[in-house]
Amino acid sequence: MGRKRYAKYLRYSKVHGDREPDSIKNQELIIDNYVKKRIEETGESWILQDVYVDINYTGTNFMRPEFLRMKEDIEAAKIDVVISKDCSRFGRNVATEVYFSEIFPKHGVIFIGVVDNIDTSNDSQILERQLKGIVNESYSRDISTKVRSAMYAKMAEGKYVASCVPYGFLRDPNDKHKLIVDENVRPVILRITKLYLEGYGFQTIARILNDEPGGPPSPALYKEQKGLRYYNKNAQRGLWSISTVRKILTNEIYNGTLIQHRVAGISFKVKKKKKVPEEEQIKVEGAVEKIIDDETWGLIQGKIKMRSKVVKNSHTSQILPQNLYSGVVFCEDCGSQMNYRSDRDVYACGTYTKYGKKYCTNHYIKTKDINKVVLMQLEIINKLTIEVKQLYEDIKEKHQEKQTANIVFIKIKQCQKRIDTINNALKILREERADGEIDEDEYRKTRSEYMQEMDDLQNELGKLNNKAKNSSLVFLEWEEKIEDIEKTYEQYFSIKELDRELILRLIDKITINEDRRISEIRFKGESPFELAEELKQEMKAIAVR
Ligand SMILES: [Zn+2]
Repeated sequence: MGRKRYAKYLRYSKVHGDREPDSIKNQELIIDNYVKKRIEETGESWILQDVYVDINYTGTNFMRPEFLRMKEDIEAAKIDVVISKDCSRFGRNVATEVYFSEIFPKHGVIFIGVVDNIDTSNDSQILERQLKGIVNESYSRDISTKVRSAMYAKMAEGKYVASCVPYGFLRDPNDKHKLIVDENVRPVILRITKLYLEGYGFQTIARILNDEPGGPPSPALYKEQKGLRYYNKNAQRGLWSISTVRKILTNEIYNGTLIQHRVAGISFKVKKKKKVPEEEQIKVEGAVEKIIDDETWGLIQGKIKMRSKVVKNSHTSQILPQNLYSGVVFCEDCGSQMNYRSDRDVYACGTYTKYGKKYCTNHYIKTKDINKVVLMQLEIINKLTIEVKQLYEDIKEKHQEKQTANIVFIKIKQCQKRIDTINNALKILREERADGEIDEDEYRKTRSEYMQEMDDLQNELGKLNNKAKNSSLVFLEWEEKIEDIEKTYEQYFSIKELDRELILRLIDKITINEDRRISEIRFKGESPFELAEELKQEMKAIAVR
């Protein structure tokens, strides 16, 4: 009595969107503490039957290997108690209840969920469990729907609900759902609109703001300085950029319209957000003060539309074919990617192009100059490869000479076998003599013949063993190494013309210095030069032996 064979069931799922990844260790600790306490309090004897751990399986179905193993053990009457950190570890779909109400009682098994205080031996809990437990899925869906609809109602009233306040605004100290204009930022926004209407593009405006001594900090930098929350993954160096300028000239909030519910979670289970279609967004005109008046706003939007058309037309024909080194060429000084300019067929430093001379100098390089160096390097690799291969052929020849060493081993074996045979024959000879089957003369004669052969064999064996020492297992290693070299270099052998695919396969990074020269070509994987050099050294060293 009171003896309980218990099973720990642990489940961890990161991929299936459990809110708080609950480490296996943590789950087990909670269970162990519970069992310890329970033993202390009740004096029951608890015996651990087994631990079942499912990693990266969702709780929404029962197709989990360890769960199924546990089920078998339950059916085989090996388990009295199943204990989990909480009910959702065990299962989080409606069918979970079937276990509690049918399968477990049928086999006399009790389920304990430590954290949510579930104990199926306690009848009064059944209803509570059904309410709370059936099961976490519908429950959490219900909660998140309630929270959401309350939020939508606020949004529809033009109340600001997000935790982050947009650049140019502050939260009204008297009403946390209301935004007021940040007077420090108002002149910056107005200046940007003025510059744009004067004919400057996004990029030039960003450059003007960045180059200006004591110029306004970028939105990300400003928020950081003021200790405000902000999201901006691309807050590159806290500088103004095309996208920060564009945002100010296109976000309707600067014209008084608050748009919320632009993104939403896919479901209560998945944290990932997706863009909400425009017609479903919650848009309230006049919800905030207009920083940019209607007339100016209209002019700006018209101009943006016009510009984007022009840009598209002039570029589509030129830019579409992927150019050779996109994403591979980098500026040595600022580390930024160098972008292809089709008009001059060059790659130019991205920082300089975007932010101007204050942040980097005009690094650029012509495509044909890169081609020249890359082809030259490939030529060198090719030569090195030929050299390595030649060395390999030489060594292979020697290797084949040494292959005869295999004959040595065969001969050694033959010798040893013959020696054994002779020893055996001598033994038989002695027995025959003892039995009087042969006479003394015959015995001596035969024996001396055997002994002579034995001497010869011992001699031969000595010589063979010496030879065997010189050859060694290194042969096998050679074979493998040479195969490796061939595999590594083969792809460079037949290169005649550069193409995009080849560049991406071969080259990791090309760095351009201020003199418009290549300062480094980094190859994917190990440097072919170092690799070839290393192998040459290694092969030479081994070949000398
Ligand atoms: Zn640069």
